[in-house]
Amino acid sequence: MTSMAVTNIGELVTNDPAAGHGRLGVLPDAALIVDDGRVAWVGANALAPAADTVLDAQGGAVLPGFVDSHTHLVFAGDRAAEFAARMAGERYTGGGIATTVAATRAAPDEELRATVERLRREALRQGTTTVEIKSGYGLTVPDEARMLRIAFEASPETTYLGAHVVPAEYADRPDDYVALVCGAMLDAAVPYARWVDVFCERGAFDADQARAVLAAGVAAGLAPRVHANQLGPGPGVRLAVELGAASADHCTHLSNADVALLAGSSTVATLLPGGEFSTRSPYPDARRLLDAGVTVALATDCNPGSSYTSSMPLCVALAVREMRMTPAEAVWAATAGGAQALRRTDIGHLGIGARADVLLLDAPSHLHLAYRPGVPLIRHVLHNGVLT
Ligand SMILES: [Zn+2]
Repeated sequence: MTSMAVTNIGELVTNDPAAGHGRLGVLPDAALIVDDGRVAWVGANALAPAADTVLDAQGGAVLPGFVDSHTHLVFAGDRAAEFAARMAGERYTGGGIATTVAATRAAPDEELRATVERLRREALRQGTTTVEIKSGYGLTVPDEARMLRIAFEASPETTYLGAHVVPAEYADRPDDYVALVCGAMLDAAVPYARWVDVFCERGAFDADQARAVLAAGVAAGLAPRVHANQLGPGPGVRLAVELGAASADHCTHLSNADVALLAGSSTVATLLPGGEFSTRSPYPDARRLLDAGVTVALATDCNPGSSYTSSMPLCVALAVREMRMTPAEAVWAATAGGAQALRRTDIGHLGIGARADVLLLDAPSHLHLAYRPGVPLIRHVLHNGVLT
């Protein structure tokens, strides 16, 4: 494989404090060498070793690729009308998930596959080089298995979310559904899943049901993560920390005890501001989490109901404007934070040996991601060292 030099970098964000200034490890006037899909060298532009090919950053900023650690890309249909109704004053309750379940069950594999591919490419153009994908709109043994099989073709970071909601046919016997999620459905999911997740929320799954689902997943070799405290206070965060989950996602309605538990754990708080934006709901208090010492990640929650965006730059801008994160904190959370939420050390940074997932911005600094919201600033994306 040939090597590539990315030269004339105005500002290189490495996320490696040993390589540069601050937590983002920023190097001015830098260059970066990619070899065999990995970062082989970073340093001053003037000292850059020779490489087979050169990509001139023209003074722009260079960052690690975004790590979107929470999406629901496998689905059919859209819910634009539900969005319009919400914007006209209706409240979001999560009930619309049933609409997507019906459409997804009816869709052939090729249609689901095409949607995942379209959204994955859409995300890549906006700088997302790693995407986690959940099931959860099948809610039958064969439909959850095929959702995960299709997701697994697009990403190794797949999550079994059979416990998304109780489907209508189990409405009067939810414990039978939990038993299915922990039994035959789990067995069918395991070959295509790395993670197990549960929507722990009033109207979805309570603490005992959620604990049973996560414990069964762990026993089958999956690692836990939790949809926690999105719509109201509840036991989700407590459960995530108790089970050593990689991430508690949403974290909008937290008690002081929840915040303290997260701060004392290795569980990342993954915030999904696209959801609050699209449901016109109060944003999570990122400042409170950061000030308490909690590790924060940002992700899109891309799904057709509550957050139909694949844009990590939008999430960075919202986190800064609406959640009182600094631009540096938001960029870190969208890259290194996402990697930590997926327990990955090879992505989310540009230290030596990291996977060469690299963004070249049409802007001199990472600040512009929040300073120029909605502007397509991603000029080039390297994925595994290859120009996409
Ligand atoms: Zn979600």
